[in-house]
Amino acid sequence: MVRSSLEQTLQLAGLRPPQTLTIAITGACNLSCSHCWVEAGESASAGHVSSQTVDRLIGEFAALGGSGLRLTGGEPLCHPDWLDLLRLAVASGFGAVALQTNGMLLN
Ligand code: SF4
Repeated sequence: MVRSSLEQTLQLAGLRPPQTLTIAITGACNLSCSHCWVEAGESASAGHVSSQTVDRLIGEFAALGGSGLRLTGGEPLCHPDWLDLLRLAVASGFGAVALQTNGMLLN
């Protein structure tokens, strides 16, 4: 259903479906780089996107036949459910899944 209605809309506009999707799952970050273009940081006003919303977006993009997904932020590891969301993305059958992280919270 998602695929057919979006494909129809894209076809009417003379466009093809997107192949890759980047989802910023949070505006929070453990760092506060001066060059940060999303103005992320521990006190960023943009908080976490709900896991239900990210789950829905991943499912809809998989249904569209998307081939690549990137999870980013802010710092995606600041999201309390980042690992579950990453597992969902990997299990959704995309050809490539990327986690764009500053790596500081990995141990
Ligand atoms: S999101 Fe990236 S650029 Fe922005 S504050 Fe965090 S580490 Fe720095």
